[in-house]
Amino acid sequence: MKHIAILGSTGSIGKNTLQVVRNLKDKFRVTGLSTHSQWEFLAEQVEEFNPSHVALSNPQLAEKLKHRLSYNQTEIICGNNCLKDIVLKSKADIVVSAVVGAIGLSAAIETVQAGKILALANKEALVMAGNIVMPLAKKNQILPVDSEHSAIFQALQSGKQNEIKRIIITASGGPFYDFPADTLAGVTPAQALKHPTWRMGQKITIDSATLMNKALEIIEAKWLFNLEAEQIDVVIHPQSIIHSMVEFCDGSVIAQMGMPDMKVPIQYALTYPEREGLNVEPFDLPRIESLTFKKPDLEKFPALKLGYLAAREGGTIGATLNAANEIAVQAFLEKKIRFTEISFFVEKVINNHRFIKDPCLEEILEADAWARQEIKKCLT
Ligand code: NDP
Ligand code: MG
Repeated sequence: MKHIAILGSTGSIGKNTLQVVRNLKDKFRVTGLSTHSQWEFLAEQVEEFNPSHVALSNPQLAEKLKHRLSYNQTEIICGNNCLKDIVLKSKADIVVSAVVGAIGLSAAIETVQAGKILALANKEALVMAGNIVMPLAKKNQILPVDSEHSAIFQALQSGKQNEIKRIIITASGGPFYDFPADTLAGVTPAQALKHPTWRMGQKITIDSATLMNKALEIIEAKWLFNLEAEQIDVVIHPQSIIHSMVEFCDGSVIAQMGMPDMKVPIQYALTYPEREGLNVEPFDLPRIESLTFKKPDLEKFPALKLGYLAAREGGTIGATLNAANEIAVQAFLEKKIRFTEISFFVEKVINNHRFIKDPCLEEILEADAWARQEIKKCLT
């Protein structure tokens, strides 16, 4: 029986993780859960899974949760360090990091340092600080939940590190891929929130529409798989059936495929190196009919160029890009800036920032804080 803590249990990945656990009750026990504001939903999860510890990062709501769970043995943790506390106190073997944004970095570091398995959905942690997180981790201690990276991880089992020629990350292209470039400035948050193939949290859905999500995934892949930026290609594949590919030095290309369902990569991260049964939509190629591919348009979606820049140059660019993007996405959702201004302002902040080639954690956190302030100047 493995013990699991889920950071961000009320979100899209968190809920899918709990569904995987429901189906594998004899293999996993949930010992820790965390959320930010959805305290009533968290209370329901506590009643179903009976974890030893839960965390609520919004302190105003912790009293309500304590009152609702007063009859229960579960210990409630709140305050700034609550994610790190859950990692340690819940005595989990596996921590699923499914929080959104930079907030996940410290818990990722804590998990790896404590020698636990990190099932990582929160790609922002590696985008910001892959140079800090990866050297702390043993081989296969960080297991990808992101579907593309799970696909690459699975495909890599066909060869050795020095046999990799390149990886090909697939992208659905989001809702606007075929829109004429001059219409993108006018698209609304409601349009951007309608992703064609995946149902996800708001931030990643907007990131998928700008292709910033693919930029983050390029950087994530560079760190996870120890690749050069030149070894990472992106291809638009609207059906989201091939989740990514690895091309080896002999020209053999291994693709991982399946119906788009996040439970597949989540479950693989939990059960690795084993596989367990999972009830997924049938893989019916004649019904899918065709798989199509296009070259990504870097002019129409400049976020991708920023991803390559960050993967190539490293240093503080990842943290700066990520922080500026988090603020810009929120501003777009609040209708304070246009869709096209997300990437435009992020680029401006990257260009203005003080680049440090091999930053320590403190310098990374400083770059993050600086970028949040800097982009706010563009929004007023
Ligand atoms: P959601 O927005 O659906 O969920 C986010 C979770 O994090 C919620 O439980 C939320 O709590 C919690 N949270 C939000 N803010 C904070 C905070 N300040 N402190 C602590 N917890 C917080 O996001 P997703 O599940 O879509 O995405 C989670 C991560 O996984 C992201 O990094 C994303 O890029 C990545 N990912 C997601 C995929 C998907 O299919 N959704 C696919 C691949 C990667 P509350 O509900 O109370 O607000
Ligand atoms: Mg992905």
